[in-house]
Amino acid sequence: YAKQRGKNRVERYQKRYDELLRRHSVLENELRHAIERDQLRLVFQPVVALPSVRPVGAEALLRWHHPDLGSVRPDEFIPVAEESGLIGMLGAWVLDQACGQLAQWLTAGHDVWVSVNLSPKELHAADYAGQVAAVLDKYGVPPQRLVLEVTEHAVATDMDELIRRLVELRSTGVRIALDDFGAGYSSLGQLRNLPVDILKIDHALVAEPESRTGTAAPLVDVVVRLGHRLGLEVLAEGIGTPAQREIVEAAGCRLGQGSLFGWGVPAEHLEAQLRAGRSCGSRQVPAPRSRP
Ligand code: C2E
Ligand code: MG
Ligand code: MG
Ligand code: MG
Repeated sequence: YAKQRGKNRVERYQKRYDELLRRHSVLENELRHAIERDQLRLVFQPVVALPSVRPVGAEALLRWHHPDLGSVRPDEFIPVAEESGLIGMLGAWVLDQACGQLAQWLTAGHDVWVSVNLSPKELHAADYAGQVAAVLDKYGVPPQRLVLEVTEHAVATDMDELIRRLVELRSTGVRIALDDFGAGYSSLGQLRNLPVDILKIDHALVAEPESRTGTAAPLVDVVVRLGHRLGLEVLAEGIGTPAQREIVEAAGCRLGQGSLFGWGVPAEHLEAQLRAGRSCGSRQVPAPRSRP
């Protein structure tokens, strides 16, 4: 009986594993044509100054809509792109589109920067810094208007090589952000050695106050202070509620991002917000429902 049960379980795992493999290869094949078939878009999530909530920048986030598969999340397709070597092509497309959009906003007189997520694989590609410089040049974008986000995952690999790469990138004048800090990959000691400009505090640290009141405030506090002591700008990600914003603001954090201020939207939508000089996610209490 136990033997039969074990056998069933193995079969279930095998089936699940086969499904994953199949999905992976479908995604890989389809991703290969996603650019030429016009299935990719960038959305831009506002980054706001705190406490004013004025939009000061935007993070470019990749969206893939496939006619049969529907919308595939970046958390699913980015790893596929990384493993299959397609990330170089995708990343180049993202960088080009983001810089094109940034150039438009700057031309329109908006005082903004744009950040782009970078896979460790891209960072380690030959002459990546040269590619970045070429795209900036193509659109006439001042380098300091572009932020490249490197995740903590990249940090887990060869530190010396990573530092060399970041130094090279930074020599083009772009700024570097360390993404998802506090999600559990890099150590505090490593942070001191990394040539980065902006520290992005991960959702997980910011979201905690909702579940366990009081425990996150000291963590956010310490990370913000640490960032500032190291001379970095600190940006809190995933701010979803007024209570979370308060904790972040009380910690002295001056940059924020999250659903409270807006999700990623097509460039035109953010443009409208920038043009109106409107702050994202008003601080005012919404009008009561009963009022007409
Ligand atoms: P990330 O860079 O940390 O991006 C933030 C993610 O959090 C985005 O998910 C964003 O939509 C989501 N988010 C924004 N506000 C909130 C909030 O208030 N609460 C919560 N819970 N989440 C929020 P998205 O767009 O699904 O992207 C997921 C990850 O995929 C990104 O994490 C990034 O690592 C990667 N990614 C996205 N676009 C690109 C890209 O163009 N290139 C590369 N290499 N990676 C990308
Ligand atoms: Mg990011
Ligand atoms: Mg992040
Ligand atoms: Mg992330």
